[in-house]
Amino acid sequence: MSFKDPVCGKRMNRGKAHITIEFEGVNYFLCCPQCQAQFERSPKTFAKPELGEKARKVQHYPVKQHN
Ligand SMILES: [Zn+2]
Repeated sequence: MSFKDPVCGKRMNRGKAHITIEFEGVNYFLCCPQCQAQFERSPKTFAKPELGEKARKVQHYPVKQHN
């Protein structure tokens, strides 16, 4: 399965992505540092849930008790 870089529109396999950024529960695959920088500057502009991959539910580890 390939994913689309929401900034430049390039398609890539998960393993080829420069970085994965999670935004509002969706993982976005960015191809290069330039796209990463643009996405991070204004994620709302580029974030399109259909282009990314729904992020797995974040595990909340219980706070260690000091008893
Ligand atoms: Zn790109």
